[in-house]
Amino acid sequence: MEAARAEGRVLVFAQGKPLIRDGALAYLTSRALQSLGVSGVPVLFLGLSGEQAYFALDLPVDAIAEAAAFGVFADQRLTMGGLPAAEAAIMAEALGVLNWHASHKFCARCGAPSAIAEGGWKRICPSCETEHFPRTDPVVIMLVIRGERVLLGRKGSFPPGMFSCLAGFMEPGETIEEAVARELLEEAGIAIGAVRYVASQPWPFPSSLMIGCHADALGDEIRVDEIEIEEARWFGRDEIRSALGRPLGDPAMLGVPPKSAIAHQLMRAWLEE
Ligand SMILES: [Zn+2]
Repeated sequence: MEAARAEGRVLVFAQGKPLIRDGALAYLTSRALQSLGVSGVPVLFLGLSGEQAYFALDLPVDAIAEAAAFGVFADQRLTMGGLPAAEAAIMAEALGVLNWHASHKFCARCGAPSAIAEGGWKRICPSCETEHFPRTDPVVIMLVIRGERVLLGRKGSFPPGMFSCLAGFMEPGETIEEAVARELLEEAGIAIGAVRYVASQPWPFPSSLMIGCHADALGDEIRVDEIEIEEARWFGRDEIRSALGRPLGDPAMLGVPPKSAIAHQLMRAWLEE
């Protein structure tokens, strides 16, 4: 891997923040990395494009300040939304696996330190030989529909005026439909009938796959679980249409997540049905 890395181009992160130059992911050459004194840091093999090998790594803390000479370390969530789809996918892949390495340094079976293998796509325990693979955590996110209205909720951490689709982690043993039904009953007291899969989106913060659905509500009385969400309300087509067309920021008006978010796409798909 060291030989390939010498010729490769490396996507670098600083504590999860990607290096960006001219609005795109910035790749460093091995020479640039050597000038930063980076060696012995776990490197992830991303793949080949023609003869060119691509890698990713999370910089050691003492190399971050100097690496900023090559670009800007940008907020990872905002960057995901601002990049073209192909670049966002590469970033999600790299960040998902690097996040996994950062929090899975020890064998979950016996507790011994595990070692990186297969270009970063696996860890092996030298003590008990268990193999560990990067994980993905499925999350259901759903737009609840009742006739000409949809249900949106807001968390206390959202900017003022912002509402979004309800969401939650799937539990072991659940189908997607069961997870959607359970989350809606828990968070908003809404019972649902049919569930339709619409689209999905990797969300590597730290390792989620968002599974986007539409769900038909069987009633419209809301009972909010205030631990999970602050408020949930029904919104009509006109309110959703105008919110999709304007940026967040006016606390007096309904705001929804930007176009890059799957919640936005679930609302748009409903309007276009
Ligand atoms: Zn072990």
